[in-house]
Amino acid sequence: MRRVRVPLPHYPFHPPHPLILLPNYPYLGSCNFFERRFRGFAYRCDSCDFDLHGTCALLQVSVASNFPTCLHQHPLFFVQNHDEEVINDCCGCKNPLSGPIYHCSDCTYPTIFNLHKKCAESSLEIQHPYDRKHPLTLLSAPAATHRLDCSCYLCKIQWDGFVYSCSICNFDLTLDDFLAPKEITFSSHGHHRVLLLKQISFVCDSCGIAGDHSPYLYIMCNLVVHKKCISMPRNIMITRHHHVISHSFYLQEDQFEDWMCRICYEEVDMRYGGCCCSNSDCIYIFHVHCATNKAIWDGTIISEVDERCKEAPCEYRNLITDGVEQMSIGEDMVAVEIKKCVS
Ligand SMILES: [Zn+2]
Ligand SMILES: [Zn+2]
Ligand SMILES: [Zn+2]
Ligand SMILES: [Zn+2]
Ligand SMILES: [Zn+2]
Ligand SMILES: [Zn+2]
Ligand SMILES: [Zn+2]
Ligand SMILES: [Zn+2]
Repeated sequence: MRRVRVPLPHYPFHPPHPLILLPNYPYLGSCNFFERRFRGFAYRCDSCDFDLHGTCALLQVSVASNFPTCLHQHPLFFVQNHDEEVINDCCGCKNPLSGPIYHCSDCTYPTIFNLHKKCAESSLEIQHPYDRKHPLTLLSAPAATHRLDCSCYLCKIQWDGFVYSCSICNFDLTLDDFLAPKEITFSSHGHHRVLLLKQISFVCDSCGIAGDHSPYLYIMCNLVVHKKCISMPRNIMITRHHHVISHSFYLQEDQFEDWMCRICYEEVDMRYGGCCCSNSDCIYIFHVHCATNKAIWDGTIISEVDERCKEAPCEYRNLITDGVEQMSIGEDMVAVEIKKCVS
């Protein structure tokens, strides 16, 4: 194999030794910078068994010397544009990475460490109305005191991202909540909404499930909604039904024969929002959490409901119940009718 000694365009990748260019890396390689498998040209240090994928070597990278070691034990690199090389979520806010990032090349799979620029540059201490008595300190994970038999929402969702924490009051605000937009004027619902960053009990008007912190308020409509529910699309397609399923904050009583969810066969609480078939001949209703369960909904959103499709006679009426199958929704096993076309 031909070996060429070429200085790298960006030195920070492997300070101790010069790297050697392998124009045709013969194997499926594993890049020591972004921990990705690769093919094609690479740079290598034999004494350290260090491989650098050619594409990664061309990225604009600098050493992030100012990043506080209290948040991560290894030195980080600042990468202006990672060119979609990184597919993991941000370790601070747990959202997908985009734009400039901070990256640790010492952490190896499965503990890959990347941060959005805005997450990496968050203030280490803030004054926030979430805790009116004490300043909140930025930590790389919730304090260990939570782990025992804590029932707070962080433990419920097993949050392992960054938090703003008060050790005296023993509570934390996730970085994701802290960075969530405080006010959204244009929403699918068409109204102004505001984030209330407080520990507060409520029932979500969108999905009917209780929440215990930081809801969005639709001030003009008097609605309270989970942060995760504000992005609920108006119309979706699910695998269990042939028509477009619409989400509504208001379900009318005379619209349905009964209030049984056709996925879990438990009652839908008509005081809150729900999902129902957009076809006027179809009287099917679903819990929001059932219709949006990953096993039922593959994420397909319908931007405009075709009126013809909506008004067509419901094909589902021509289906027969073929049997009952067990399927899992979250941790529960539920009965689901298997239907087949009669045609
Ligand atoms: Zn080396
Ligand atoms: Zn982030
Ligand atoms: Zn690291
Ligand atoms: Zn907890
Ligand atoms: Zn406090
Ligand atoms: Zn909700
Ligand atoms: Zn249900
Ligand atoms: Zn239908």
